[in-house]
Amino acid sequence: MIDLCSQESSPMLPIEDALARIKNTIHPLKASETVLLKDALGRILSEAVYAPINSPNETNSAMDGYAFSSAEITKGREFSLNLIGTSWAGRPFKGVLQAGQCIRVFTGAVVPSEADSIIMQEHVESDGQWIHFPIDTIGGQHIREVGEDMRQGCLLLASPKKLNAIDLGLLASAGVCEVSVNRPVKIAFFSTGDELTELGKPLFSGQIYDSNRYALHGLLNDINYIATDMGVIGDDKQLLEERFIEAAKNHDVFITTGGVSVGEADYVKEILSRCGEVNFWKIAIKPGKPLAFGKIGDCYFFGLPGNPVAVIVTFQYIVSPALKHLLGATETKTIKLAAICTSTLKKAPGRQEYQRGILTQDAVGNFFVASSGKQGSNIMKSLSEANCYIVLPVACEGIQAGERVMIDLIPSDEWI
Ligand code: AMP
Ligand code: MG
Repeated sequence: MIDLCSQESSPMLPIEDALARIKNTIHPLKASETVLLKDALGRILSEAVYAPINSPNETNSAMDGYAFSSAEITKGREFSLNLIGTSWAGRPFKGVLQAGQCIRVFTGAVVPSEADSIIMQEHVESDGQWIHFPIDTIGGQHIREVGEDMRQGCLLLASPKKLNAIDLGLLASAGVCEVSVNRPVKIAFFSTGDELTELGKPLFSGQIYDSNRYALHGLLNDINYIATDMGVIGDDKQLLEERFIEAAKNHDVFITTGGVSVGEADYVKEILSRCGEVNFWKIAIKPGKPLAFGKIGDCYFFGLPGNPVAVIVTFQYIVSPALKHLLGATETKTIKLAAICTSTLKKAPGRQEYQRGILTQDAVGNFFVASSGKQGSNIMKSLSEANCYIVLPVACEGIQAGERVMIDLIPSDEWI
């Protein structure tokens, strides 16, 4: 890996370039495991699934009514057929239909091969022995044909695909009871900083609560990740180095927050260059400029900034796509929306900004967005109140109220 950003004066990488470098560097894991269908929700299918059977497997009725042969119909005449039995859902009629005969059928019941038509029960008259069909009886109706949902051997789901509830239902209807899915990504994370205090302990002067680990715990809560919380590590170069090496041994990825900038106590990049390789460490985004990406042994490393909002933004825009790529999932194209900005937004050119916004829609569907409040990268409340990011391009010099802006909905769990 080449360190393009090794010089303090080195240019910040545009986010598109950073993502391209991540994609070129990270090799998808390509390891799979077989799981029961019930355990497959949210997992990434690693092999295409083909239908092992036809569905429906037999011709059956789409209505409660009577099954008969369309050969009985004579145009412009009523007719009556002898009722000789019943086909229930789960208990097929065992006999054979002869000319002049029909059977009672219920929805989902097998239709005997001699019949090709169903008439709804509401459209006939019955005296218990004879069924009287109306003059306008039509043949071929309300029949569910063999394989009309899926033909045996047809492609049911292509790979990769994140399995959702509908997929589970589809596979179950084909009798598929287990599937091959990509193995989860093993991820370690910890916070760095002498000022950090664990929740539940009192705050002394100069200390703050370690909130980043809780946000990361939430962001990494995905069935495709096995996340290990390694706690807080102070600004101690030696200890940090030991923990870096330990984390890199047993995980596919490890993530730290804090200590990645250029302050006296910011050791992350230095340790990464000593024990591994730095790919880049400065991105032209706000919040989130200092972000180290590299590798120690076979383990990929993301050193996120310390400021809590920057942690969330860099996770959502950089780490999350990287993890999905490593997992072997398909890339998602987030839907971009345009909205009229009702706030005036300050911005200096040079970095792409993700300002926290509140998106609303009027009765005819027009989108409006307002700033959700103060934009400092330590201000979590305005992020918590936001439902979108107002994305301001590198060259933008600010927005006047009434101008059109592009927004990203705050990424949700639905990512494939
Ligand atoms: P640093 O990058 O280490 O200089 O941290 C930048 C800012 O983020 C400082 O104000 C830190 O106190 C704060 N910070 C760092 N780590 C955390 C954390 N785990 N939780 C909350 N704030 C943090
Ligand atoms: Mg620090």
